[in-house]
Amino acid sequence: MTPEAISPFGERRYHAWNEHVKTRYGGRVQKVSVVAGFTCPNRDGLVGTGGCTFCNNASFTPGYLNRRQPIAEQIAAGLDFLQWRYPGTQRYIAYFQSYSNTYGEFERLRACYEEALAHPQISGLATGTRPDCLPDKVLDYLAALAREHIIELEIGVESCNDVALARELQRDPDAVLLLGEQDCTNLLADFIERLSPNILLQRVGSEVPPAQKLAPLWNLRLSELAPRLTAELARRGSWQGCRYRPGDPALR
Ligand code: SF4
Repeated sequence: MTPEAISPFGERRYHAWNEHVKTRYGGRVQKVSVVAGFTCPNRDGLVGTGGCTFCNNASFTPGYLNRRQPIAEQIAAGLDFLQWRYPGTQRYIAYFQSYSNTYGEFERLRACYEEALAHPQISGLATGTRPDCLPDKVLDYLAALAREHIIELEIGVESCNDVALARELQRDPDAVLLLGEQDCTNLLADFIERLSPNILLQRVGSEVPPAQKLAPLWNLRLSELAPRLTAELARRGSWQGCRYRPGDPALR
């Protein structure tokens, strides 16, 4: 491949969820975070206690969100904020992000989801969970909802390491491998080149409030990461899936 090679995904060079959503729904689909009070097997003792080392729900819980409010009121507060931040957005979906949001008694799950869907400005759900918390009954229910609503299911496949990571880093900074900005960009590009071109990428990075962050201390805003990734792919003359091998089960 050469830098002049033509990307099937245009200038962005990867199969971006944002573009797909605009084409399919005619504009931005914005998530409105809600907290339904679920827990997860790594916290309630079923598998472990204390949660995964890296799990910090406070890092992505918006400041306007009051978890003691009913879901409908959380959505109203979220919409107040988001309509100001993203004016013109037509579609919103309720985002059950914290912990494992299909881990609970089925009727309770259903009540939470349906309370969100009953809001007149909510077009669907995004539900974060883990693969061992998805019984067929829940999957069938979500599939039925998907006939009339936007339904996103986020399945976190993460490692679990009970050793409290922050203390380890403070005790011995060499014990934890930290990527630099360019190393991370290179790794993302390597991965995306090998990823199936059929997979949509919703985001390539995330961030936590500075007060909650120990490392790495990059001089990079989150909004700069995706353009850097695109620039790296362009420099290589590559794009999502250009090195994809369908027989590799890890990347299907
Ligand atoms: S990352 Fe997921 S599985 Fe781990 S503690 Fe957090 S909610 Fe539980």
